[in-house]
Amino acid sequence: MESKMTVSYKELGLVNTKELFAKAVKGGYAIPAYNFNNMEQLQAIIMACVETKSPVILQVSKGARDYANATLLRNMARGAVEYAKELGYPIPVVLHLDHGGDFEICKQCIDNGFSSVMIDGSHLPYDENVALTRKVVEYAHSQKDYVTVEGELGVLAGIEDEVSAEHSSYTPPEEVIDFVGKTGVDSLAISIGTSHGANKFKPEQCTRNEEGILLPPPLRFDILEEVEKKLPGFPIVLHGSSSVPQDLVKIINTYGGKLKDAIGIPEEQLRKAAASAVCKINIDSDGRLAMTAAVRKVLAEKPAEFDPRKYLGPARDALKELYKHKNINVLGSAGKA
Ligand SMILES: [Zn+2]
Repeated sequence: MESKMTVSYKELGLVNTKELFAKAVKGGYAIPAYNFNNMEQLQAIIMACVETKSPVILQVSKGARDYANATLLRNMARGAVEYAKELGYPIPVVLHLDHGGDFEICKQCIDNGFSSVMIDGSHLPYDENVALTRKVVEYAHSQKDYVTVEGELGVLAGIEDEVSAEHSSYTPPEEVIDFVGKTGVDSLAISIGTSHGANKFKPEQCTRNEEGILLPPPLRFDILEEVEKKLPGFPIVLHGSSSVPQDLVKIINTYGGKLKDAIGIPEEQLRKAAASAVCKINIDSDGRLAMTAAVRKVLAEKPAEFDPRKYLGPARDALKELYKHKNINVLGSAGKA
């Protein structure tokens, strides 16, 4: 049971996305949106973002709420704000609901300290997506402390926790003005070829280079440009933007894993997107791969080890290094906090 008392995000030391996105669009970088479900992930995110002086969006999915408990997650986010200060550099921290599936879950999060929510009506017919998103926006914006809302138009393929779609459909640029105008969303997730999960494309959708490495189809920058023309300066969000580093896949498979044809979005393409109106990039699978690779390696090399700190610690260190790399080399958010 969650507490019935409502909590505003400002009491937890959190911020919404409004100002962060305005700066990111102007500055040609993107704010990292990293998912967390446990303490080690949160420590890695905060350490990486403090060390690179990057603002951060902590994302919580429905799966995370089911796994870790919503009250615990909210208080962990509060703790993260304090932890960043203790590490010597307070960074702006957003607590964001990833893929809110209905009004009720968005309301629950808004009432319980989230500073930002996503309402994902992308699977609905257009008018229903508009109506649902509008309802969440009205509630979020009417709070004493303005809660920001992300909507989605267009469908991403792939699987992420409970969110799955067999086929993607690109965002129709001709709909974005109407959607943003009618709903009042603060940011818009679009579909230009990114995808959820670690198997973003089937091998037949890809080409192979001379070393036999799969190369994914390029992102549809033409659609992104069209959207930017229609909505100049409006914050755009990319989901499913892991790059699935092949060295991590290799470590996992070397130590007993069985990941087949895992493939992601090349980092150069994400860097290019981050330099545009894309101001929030969601990365989850890469973190899962980094942790799994580290855990598998430790357990394979030290089979007598049974202290969780001895494998979760290295997993946390690997995750932190990955996120520092993302902030510095992919998103461009380092030094922006
Ligand atoms: Zn997503």
